[in-house]
Amino acid sequence: MSADTNPLLARWSAAFDAPPFAEIRTEHYRPAFEAALAENRAEIDAIAGNAAEPSFDNTLAALERSGRALDQVASVFFNLAGSDTNDELQAIEREMAPVLSRHHTAIYLNDALFRRIDTVFSRRGELGLSPEQARVLDRYHTAFRRAGAGKPEAVKQRLAAISERLASLGTQFGQNVLKDEKAWSMKLDGEADLAGLPDFLRAASASAAADRGESGHAVTLSRSLIEPFLQFSARRDLRETAFKAWLARGEGGGETDNRALIAEMVALRAERAKLLGYPTFAHYRLDDSMARTPEAALDLLRSVWQPARAQAERERAGLEALAAGEGDNIALQAWDWRYYAEKKRRQEFDLDEAELKPYLQLDKIIEAAFDTARRLFGITFTERKDVPVYHPDVRAFEVTDAGGASIGLFYGDYFARPSKRSGAWMSAFRSQERLNGAISPIIVNVMNFARGADGQPTLLSFDDARTLFHELGHGLHGLLSDVTYPLLSGTSVPRDFVEFPSQLYEHWLEQPEVLQRYAVHYKTGEPMPKALLDRLIASRTFNQGFATVEYVSSALVDLEMHLLAEAEGFDVGAFEAKVLAEIDMPRAMVMRHRPPHFQHVFSGEGYSSAYYSYLWSEVLDADGFDAFVESGDIFDGETARRLREFVYAAGNRQDAAQAYRDFRGHDPKPEALLKKRGLAA
Ligand SMILES: [Zn+2]
Repeated sequence: MSADTNPLLARWSAAFDAPPFAEIRTEHYRPAFEAALAENRAEIDAIAGNAAEPSFDNTLAALERSGRALDQVASVFFNLAGSDTNDELQAIEREMAPVLSRHHTAIYLNDALFRRIDTVFSRRGELGLSPEQARVLDRYHTAFRRAGAGKPEAVKQRLAAISERLASLGTQFGQNVLKDEKAWSMKLDGEADLAGLPDFLRAASASAAADRGESGHAVTLSRSLIEPFLQFSARRDLRETAFKAWLARGEGGGETDNRALIAEMVALRAERAKLLGYPTFAHYRLDDSMARTPEAALDLLRSVWQPARAQAERERAGLEALAAGEGDNIALQAWDWRYYAEKKRRQEFDLDEAELKPYLQLDKIIEAAFDTARRLFGITFTERKDVPVYHPDVRAFEVTDAGGASIGLFYGDYFARPSKRSGAWMSAFRSQERLNGAISPIIVNVMNFARGADGQPTLLSFDDARTLFHELGHGLHGLLSDVTYPLLSGTSVPRDFVEFPSQLYEHWLEQPEVLQRYAVHYKTGEPMPKALLDRLIASRTFNQGFATVEYVSSALVDLEMHLLAEAEGFDVGAFEAKVLAEIDMPRAMVMRHRPPHFQHVFSGEGYSSAYYSYLWSEVLDADGFDAFVESGDIFDGETARRLREFVYAAGNRQDAAQAYRDFRGHDPKPEALLKKRGLAA
């Protein structure tokens, strides 16, 4: 199949050169991958076999120009495999994971190619490279070394085999979690089963049942449905059933059980690190991060753990007292926590999620997030109905700068559906660069909000609204990118820096001046009453002991697992229990993500031994937002200009620590983090 007949290989000509989704059929993927892989192999052979003396242009820039077709095919495929998958796409995904791994390994372990890069690298001082070119050279040299370039043949073969196997295991892991989530739902029969559920949750559970072709109401394992169910359901038995199912994802025995996969992955990662000269996988992984060493990451996690743990213990005592006061004489269990915390919040701050929610309409929060970008960076989002989308739920927006010039395309895909992976993420169909003419980015935000029942607007929880701001923060990192070389574009920064632009963006949602304007009641159009707004803001640090313990315990288990020098016969259940006992995990609390469904860590390499990144970046965002506070204006133009120049537009043009310093004028101060979470002594 050629470019004439396969839309994945053609030059796209729809509005904004968006992918022609309607023309793409499942049978296009295999031949498109095949052709694109062959093209890329030929490009690599030509670069590696070039008879001319190695130069920046004929080696590094040539690498940067190569692989276009493969990027185009892979970006469409993997975006859809995450957000709108089916059995056939999943089969192709399992098939392609090892093929793509083999392909990339062959490039990074190509001796002739590495010799050329190494030659250019050794002469870097005399080549008159621009700062961005020097960065590209340094990043390629580092990536090749970290992949094992220059190692003996036998080592390289083993490294290739390990990568290939890890790619297959990671794919299988994610598919297993999705299967477990799809397989489970709990029917709520009649009023007795709906006890305690407010209107919005009745509507959302009706819509979840309808999505599954059922009548009545149902709870699923989608976070935006099960969390409110645990918060509101007065039926302790149903909370327990749902919570246990949620917790057991990936651990149910049978075909979708992920424990054996984890054992193999942890062992393979440890072996790879050793072959590359590192004591453990965590040392290998963090060597190329902002933290640099596992010790630095552990130090941060541990410094937060004790105050968070103490706070969580106090919170639990408070919840048990509240339960006792209501005549519920119980030892609080994990499935009770959110329920009593919701009551406590109502009691302490007179704040009720069900009272808040009517003010948090999805469409208004989208507008608020866009308007924040306009006020900070002068950019505008305009909805376009003439752009192809991959699912009827997806909305497309043109993004223009202050002068009206188009800078990119943004897709918002907001609703949960059975064909979508859980969680929320940003991804790109195309990244910004200027090497082949000015290429504008096509960015997507994917979420899993529970849709409002027929004709009713979708109402968000405050956490959902925060997620929306978070992902648009990542989105802006892709949209505002302003680099020449694709390697450095947008979010291609160290994992423990990449959450800085996203978490920083969350701060604007919490500002009265944003909420007053966009938090308006869906029936009356009235803005959120001042008193409610004040109570919402006052409750910011409520239950933060719980949230921090949930998160930090997950990050510690992730790091400790990857700090094993030997992992033969790894028993993940026993290991999880051991680490949690060592850190003295508070009773009635569980990890935010238990290993058998910890997709950050096992669905590919993404956050493996790097789940700490969120907290690391939070040190930056807490201190970074203070720059606006100190200026006296949360939209201060000069601060926003520096933020755009050194962070949102800069991609990986420079070292992350330096980028932060250039924006802020000093290194981040960790105290701001404890203050933000209400954990400061
Ligand atoms: Zn993020």
